This record gives sequence, structure tokens and C-alpha cells, in this order.
Amino acid sequence: MNNLAEVASRVSVCTDCILSKQRTLAVPGEGAGNASVMFIGEGPGFHEDRQGRPFVGPAGKFLSELLDSVGMKREDVFITNVVKCRPPGNRDPLPGEIQACKKYLDKQLELIKPKVVVTLGRHSMGRYMPGQTITKVHGKPKRVDDVMVYPLYHPAAALHNVSLKSVIEEDFKAVPGLLKEAAKETAKPAAKTEEQSSKQLNLFS
Ligand code: URA
Ligand code: SF4
Repeated sequence: MNNLAEVASRVSVCTDCILSKQRTLAVPGEGAGNASVMFIGEGPGFHEDRQGRPFVGPAGKFLSELLDSVGMKREDVFITNVVKCRPPGNRDPLPGEIQACKKYLDKQLELIKPKVVVTLGRHSMGRYMPGQTITKVHGKPKRVDDVMVYPLYHPAAALHNVSLKSVIEEDFKAVPGLLKEAAKETAKPAAKTEEQSSKQLNLFS
């Protein structure tokens, strides 16, 4: 798998877990190949399974509104899920299914190299912050290796719980600022050297 199109075509015929049995279409994900931010949801729902595209149902409409609210467009970001095929009845994806599908998400991350990864819901948060709870960490950016991870509640949660809606809206406002920060960091590797040298100094204190 050397490019995103190849990942998508492999996903579309994948039978590596049981979710392949009941899917209509697999949903590889879509967006800009050079996106600096990637959104990772849980798995396709009813509409996504029919259309083969991520976040096109009610949760997707809300995600589009959130992007709009901060002046971002779907075409400028990359949107995908931890599992690429719909879990029957929208049940949670099982650990074995997430594991079987991980190679595709890994490859997408490797190819796109986003500066910021916004996780939507518990399952994509778990990839970066295992054992954490979304209630505790939502809205708190955390650097994980070379990417800034920003965990948010799942937009579908807002559709079932009005009080969460304003939490997600509030958390979402920080996305453009995080992107700017992340861009600055990569532009100024000197900042890291400074930090490293102060650590070195501490060795002698
Ligand atoms: N919910 C998700 O987690 N992903 C989608 O693509 C749609 C709804
Ligand atoms: Fe393959 Fe992922 Fe679909 Fe399972 S969910 S069949 S691993 S593409």
C-alpha cells in the first residue's frame, strides 16, 4: 500500500474481520492527501455503509457544521474511522476488529502525516490514550510521538445528549489554534534544542 487510493481499494475488498460479512460498502475515508488535520471516528453507520463515505449521516452533518463554525472545510481535512466497515446495528467495534483494521489506519496516518489528529469518541481516543476516559480527557490536547492528539466526544453523542452538544462545540473552537501551534513547532526545531539543553543543565543542578 503505497498511496491512499491503494489503501482504499484494499479496504473495499477486505475480509479480514467479521464486519465484512454484513457491510454494504466499506468506508476507507476521504479528504485531502496532504491534510494537516485528520479526524478519526469510530466506524461507519447506516448511511456511511450505503454510500461508502465517512460521516454522511446525522453525525456527519453535525461534524460539517462544527468544521464550518471554525472556518474549515471537509475537503481540507481527512476523515476516517478506526474500523472501515459498519458494525451491525451500530454496536461498538470489538477489540479484535479494531486490531484487524489497524493496518489501514496506520498506513493512512503514515501517508498523510497530519500534524493534528482529532479523535471522535472513545474508540479512536483509545488508540492514543489507552485506559483513559473521554469525560476526563476531552478537549485536552496531548502530544503522542510526533502528532498532537486532540480528543473530543463523538458528534453522535451530541445528537443523543443536548448538554454534550455545547461541550463539543466549545472544544471544537480550539482546533484552528492547535493547527497553528503544531505548524509553528515543526517550523522551529530550535525550540526543542532549547528544551533539551535545559534538561542537560538540570543534570548538573
Ligand atoms: N460515526 C462514526 O464514527 N463514523 C462515521 O463515519 C459516521 C458516524
Ligand atoms: Fe477489513 Fe477493517 Fe472491514 Fe474488518 S473492518 S473487514 S479489517 S476493512
